[in-house]
Amino acid sequence: MSAPLLVVDNLEAGYGPINVLHRLSLTVNPGEIVTIIGANGAGKTTTLMCISGVVKTRAGGITFDGKSLAGIPAHNIVRLGLAQSPEGRKIFARLTVRENLEMGAFTRSDPEGVREDIQKAYKMFPILEKRQAQAGGLLSGGEQQMLAIARALMARPKLLLLDEPSLGLAPQIVVQIFDVIRELNKQGMSVLLVEQNARMALKVAHRGYVLETGRITCTDRADVLLHDPRIREAYLGE
Ligand code: ATP
Repeated sequence: MSAPLLVVDNLEAGYGPINVLHRLSLTVNPGEIVTIIGANGAGKTTTLMCISGVVKTRAGGITFDGKSLAGIPAHNIVRLGLAQSPEGRKIFARLTVRENLEMGAFTRSDPEGVREDIQKAYKMFPILEKRQAQAGGLLSGGEQQMLAIARALMARPKLLLLDEPSLGLAPQIVVQIFDVIRELNKQGMSVLLVEQNARMALKVAHRGYVLETGRITCTDRADVLLHDPRIREAYLGE
């Protein structure tokens, strides 16, 4: 088996006096979709923010593609091949759809390749091509989510971090977003997916971690978690 793409080892992080993550460890292997499920406030977003270098870690280590991320600023972590689609999408509201995509490619210096990747994004999400000259802030929630994913892909990442891609979206849009995640993965993209919609997340993922108040309490193959009575009761509303 090849070496893991991402290794999070005994991570500790928090805000001010509060520690939010407690000795959190997880891995993502090349070609995998791995999901972190957990209730509101469990620390899912904080975990992703530590990996992408936005939140400072207090202890433990993160290794990506064989390289320690310790002390590397967020914009250089993107250059290493790690891109995030953040919770709440964080679209640049005044920039056009196309400009948002160009912003996602800020680490690149191959304008021709960037233009090609914008066309790929439009193929994946045709609605974005129709809306390419509109301000990002005028898009619907679902369109903004598509744009957030497409913008992250513009960095040509090896690992895509997705934070709550289904949040606040109509069911048919959620299905569409998860189809794209599946398709990206088929094309070889590794994904770390944070979701409150545990059912959808476990259906699309290969493996999952359950996060409870900052601690991983359970990890297994996603299909095993999906059929685990405790998970079904706690996270699948059964
Ligand atoms: P949600 O789905 O609500 O985003 P989550 O599992 O992603 O939940 P986090 O957002 O990581 O959880 O939050 C974990 C804890 O850290 C919560 O108690 C939250 O209130 C706290 N927290 C998050 N961001 C900050 C911040 N910037 N300053 C202080 N506390 C924060």
